[in-house]
Amino acid sequence: MGRKFIVGGNWKCNGTSDEVKKIVSMLNEAEVPSQDVVEVVVSPPFVFLPMVKSQLRPDFQVAAQNCWVKKGGAFTGEVSAEMLVNLGIPWVILGHSERRALLNESNEFVGDKVAYALAQGLKVIACVGETLEQRESGSTMAVVAEQTKAIADRVSDWSNVVLAYEPVWAIGTGKVASPAQAQEVHFELRKWLQQNVGAEVADSIRIMYGGSVNGANCKELAAKPDVDGFLVGGASLKPEFIDIIKSGTVKKTA
Ligand code: PEP
Repeated sequence: MGRKFIVGGNWKCNGTSDEVKKIVSMLNEAEVPSQDVVEVVVSPPFVFLPMVKSQLRPDFQVAAQNCWVKKGGAFTGEVSAEMLVNLGIPWVILGHSERRALLNESNEFVGDKVAYALAQGLKVIACVGETLEQRESGSTMAVVAEQTKAIADRVSDWSNVVLAYEPVWAIGTGKVASPAQAQEVHFELRKWLQQNVGAEVADSIRIMYGGSVNGANCKELAAKPDVDGFLVGGASLKPEFIDIIKSGTVKKTA
């Protein structure tokens, strides 16, 4: 199938410059599989992006955690996709559930952001996922499909998109989805893409799982056929992030 495993570290709104330097040193010293086997992308807060980019080993990449929906201008507090490109930041995470929930980012707004960021040349990690209430009412796939449709309606070239399936109930809660639960949604999402976007995109797009991934649960999740990587929050600030990166080697023998 040839989907390269990808591990993202979402540092969220954490860290002082000293703490960030320590995490970068930890990453720089780590022995990890080659970038041909596992792609690693870390996402510090905006203010630390230039520092991390300049100090981080060259085989790891950086991502912003958000960007504005269109060209910059009179949008106080925002950071535009053009600025990220100008700084040489290759990736951006869009549609994270914390932004959807706390900042009321709608599916359409996220779709617009994804389309704009791609048009500027960024690669996008686009997040989708259901709340506990939605899962319990049996609407997981409908929610994930609707979120993905808002992107599909606006995007025709998916080659620079990675999807991150992040069930909201698993984010930062310590309640990880079981490997079977993750696989089921990833499989259904791929099927949705096949039916609504195309077989080539469905087969080639990488779908990360995110939600309380840690050093102890990553291997079993990584072994699932439709899990192509992880988006990691809390554990990406800790040494166990290295174990999570290493879990991608499971695909080599699968
Ligand atoms: C995230 O924020 O994308 C995430 C998955 O967080 P955590 O790993 O802490 O659940």
